[in-house]
Amino acid sequence: MDDSYYYGEDGLRCEDVVLSEIAGSVGTPTYVYSYGALEKAYREIDEAFSGLDHMVCYAVKANSNLSVLHALASFGAGADIVSGGELYRAMKAGFDPKKVVFAGVGKTEDELVAGLGERILLFNVESASELEHLERFAARHGKRARVSLRVNPDVHPETHAHVSTGHGASKFGIPVEEALALAERVGEYRCVDLIGVHQHIGSQITKLAPYAESVEKSAQLVDELKHRGFDIKYFNIGGGLGIRYKDEEAPSPRELVDAIRPILEALGTGGTKILCEMGRYIAGNAGVLLTRVIYRKRSGGKNFLVADAGMNDLLRPSLYDAYHEVRPVQDGAAAVPADLVGPVCESGDYLARDRDLPDAAEGDLLALMSAGAYGFSMASNYNSRPRPAEVLVKGDRWAVVREREHLADLVKGELVPAFL
Ligand SMILES: *Cc1c(COP(=O)(O)O)cnc(C)c1O
Repeated sequence: MDDSYYYGEDGLRCEDVVLSEIAGSVGTPTYVYSYGALEKAYREIDEAFSGLDHMVCYAVKANSNLSVLHALASFGAGADIVSGGELYRAMKAGFDPKKVVFAGVGKTEDELVAGLGERILLFNVESASELEHLERFAARHGKRARVSLRVNPDVHPETHAHVSTGHGASKFGIPVEEALALAERVGEYRCVDLIGVHQHIGSQITKLAPYAESVEKSAQLVDELKHRGFDIKYFNIGGGLGIRYKDEEAPSPRELVDAIRPILEALGTGGTKILCEMGRYIAGNAGVLLTRVIYRKRSGGKNFLVADAGMNDLLRPSLYDAYHEVRPVQDGAAAVPADLVGPVCESGDYLARDRDLPDAAEGDLLALMSAGAYGFSMASNYNSRPRPAEVLVKGDRWAVVREREHLADLVKGELVPAFL
C-alpha cells in the first residue's frame, strides 16, 4: 500500500481525505487517485536517471484521465501514446508535442497524419510497411517524420503472457537482424529521419536480468547504427517496471537504472538521450477502487461478498488473474475466507477469489488497492453498467475528475433506423 493511503481515526484515508466521505458524496464504485503518490512515483523515476540526459514519458494508457495527464505534464513528464485518441487526450492535457512518442503496431493513416500534424517527437515504428506509409503521408502533407525503430530484442520478460511483448514470437517490434536492413532503406526516404531506437519488452516486470539483457541487446543496435552513420539521438528503453500488488519484490527505479547505467552512460557520451515510458509504476499504487458490499451469501460451501463493482469496472483480476489487496474502509474488521465478486453475469466476474477478506457486512465499504493503472482505462460498459466516477485527491482537497456515467451515456450515439 502506498503511504498516501493510511488509516486515521475515521478509517482509510487518501492523503488528508477520508475515503468514506468521498464514497458518501460521490457514491460507489469510484476510483480515487492520490496526486502526491503520482508525483512521488514520477520523481523517483526521474531521479533514478539523474546524471544522464533523459526524459521520463508517462504511458498514457495506464490511466488516461485528463487530470492525471495534466498533473504528469505539470511535473515535466513526456507522454507515450498508442493511439490517436491518446494523442488527443495528451494534447488536451497540455503535454508538449515535442515530448510525445507514439508506439503501436497498427497506427492508421489518420493516426499517423495526426501525429505528423502535431510534430510529435518520435514515431516508434514497428514494421517496414508502417515506415513506408509514414514516408508517403509525410510527403503528402509536407511534414518530416522523426522515427525510432522499435526492435524486438527477443528476451522473455518473465511476466504474464498477456503483457509480455519482447520475445521473438510477439507481434511487437522488428527483429534486431531485420532492423539494420530496414534502417538502410530509410536512406531512400525523403521525409523520414531515423533518429531513435526503441524497445518495450512487457509490463509488470519484476526481474532485473531480462530487462538489463534487452537493454544491452538494443544498445548494441544503437552502436551499430551509429557506426553506419545514423545519428541516433534517442534510445528508448520502454516501460514495464513492476509494482508491488501483494508480495512481489520488484526492483526500484534506481535499481533498474543502476543495473544498466554503464550502457546508458556510454550511449550518453555519444550524444544519445535516454527515454523511458513508465505507466504502471507511476499510476498503479496511486489509485484505489472504492466499492460497497451489496449482499453476502453462502453457496457451495463458500462465502461470497457481492460488491457493486465488477469486472467491467476493474478487469485485471478476471483478465490476468491479478491480485488486488482488499482493505476495509473502516479498520478493524476480522478476516473471513471468501470471494469478492461483482454483479456482472459471468462466472469470471470476480475481484478477489479464494482469499481471506475483510469480514464486511452488507453496506460496508471496501477499497481495492493498487488500482490506479489499467483500472478505469480498461473499464467497459459491459452489462450496460455506467462506468465509475473518478476522484483526484491533493492534500485535504478532492475533486471529481470524471463524473459517473449516466444512463443516457449508455445509449449515446445509438440510432434506431426508420425501417424498424
Ligand atoms: C503499455 C506500454 C508501456 C507502459 O507499460 P507499463 O507496464 O505500464 O509501464 C510503455 N511502452 C509501450 C510501448 C507500451 O505499450
